[in-house]
Amino acid sequence: MAATYILPLKAICNLSVSVVFRFRGPLALGAIPPQTRMITGFFAFFKNLPEQHRFNEWYAKDTSKKIRAVFRNKGMSGQRLAVNAPYGYIKGEDGHLLVDEETAPVVELIFQLCVEGNGPGKIARMLKEREIPTPGTITFQRTGQTSRYFPDDPCRWNPATVLSILGQDAYLGRTTNFKTTKLSYKSKKTVINSPDKWAVFEGTHEAIIDKETWEIVQKSREHRRRPTKMGEMGLFSGLAYCADCGAKLYHHRSITLTKEQESYICSNYQSRKKCTAHYIRAVVLEQLVLQNLQRVVAYAQEDENEFVRRVMENKTAVQRAEQEQAKRKLEKQERRISELDRIIQQLYEDRVSGALSAERFAKLSGGYEKEQEELKQSAKELQAIVNTIETQAVNVQSFLKIVRKYTAPTELTPALLREFVEKIVVHAPDKSSGHRTQRIDVHYNFIGEIDFSPEYSQVSRQTTA
Ligand SMILES: [Zn+2]
Repeated sequence: MAATYILPLKAICNLSVSVVFRFRGPLALGAIPPQTRMITGFFAFFKNLPEQHRFNEWYAKDTSKKIRAVFRNKGMSGQRLAVNAPYGYIKGEDGHLLVDEETAPVVELIFQLCVEGNGPGKIARMLKEREIPTPGTITFQRTGQTSRYFPDDPCRWNPATVLSILGQDAYLGRTTNFKTTKLSYKSKKTVINSPDKWAVFEGTHEAIIDKETWEIVQKSREHRRRPTKMGEMGLFSGLAYCADCGAKLYHHRSITLTKEQESYICSNYQSRKKCTAHYIRAVVLEQLVLQNLQRVVAYAQEDENEFVRRVMENKTAVQRAEQEQAKRKLEKQERRISELDRIIQQLYEDRVSGALSAERFAKLSGGYEKEQEELKQSAKELQAIVNTIETQAVNVQSFLKIVRKYTAPTELTPALLREFVEKIVVHAPDKSSGHRTQRIDVHYNFIGEIDFSPEYSQVSRQTTA
């Protein structure tokens, strides 16, 4: 025997839906109390569910699809989808992000500390030392929410929080939607989307961090230097590379070695003897890089226009020729693509008018469309080559911004190094001339390697080690 209960839910939770319960099994009058208890319990539970949850539970997959579409449209229009404002911002009345005067300076400080070569763990400790309340503490102060508030230690920053702040691109004034996806309407599991699925909108709110700082921080996060057993990190750890095998150089130091004796060697030599040592003393490397940097900064400060011209010119003849060739080829291909457009259009017209048989039409149009498709693909690649010329010009300006911050660097600090230098390539020592010379190439952020003149490269790159 089965009993059916139909209950209007509107009265209970303001939803105009009805629900059907079926209890299978014997249901004599005397057996009602347990069922009643069960129903009461169920509604008590149900009424307390958060609204969103209730919503999801009631509407099945079909509705979920519709919600996703609405969500998708909102995201594609450039509106921010994330519910909470990132630390450093507050949400304005219309949902736009406004700079939070209280916490935005902390965001700036965190980025600055990272540029200066501090890892997330160290930054977290420094913030605590300065008695800066954590985001959880700020939330508690403003809303009373205690989920991330620790009254015993309101300034204890979690390195993971620092790390997530350093990776938050909202600080650039950018809105990025669809970074993550829920697996399904039932699942709470979130997966990270590949960048081609993201929708990025620039300038949706005021930036806190400038582009230069952002890029330096992202780059140094990639390198992720690990401290040696002695605690401190080598100045060039993660920045110096072997010219022959491309591996990172290993910072060699120990308690028994003086600072003068510290060195860098190829990590492939260090671990498996798969490369030669590429041994260079740390002080020598420091001196070479500083000299190189001083020259570049002096040059840029002397005449910015001339500097820009030289950097652009510095691209090798081969590269320039390649770009010229790409440009010409691209123009030719673009002409052919539009010619094919006209031809295909004509074919359609001929087919419609009956001048062309179906068979002939299929053969001709198929061939032309295939050619056009291939040309479009190739044009895309050529365009990328041509575009590098333009991005180069923009990048020199970014580099000059850093140059303007430093007048005449006299010492290589971690901050200075990371702001200017992308990587340093260390060559194997050359003893053919009778004494040991060693070449290093300094690749600068935004502009790459600079090699201005023969005398310049002679002096700074070939110093006896
Ligand atoms: Zn090597």
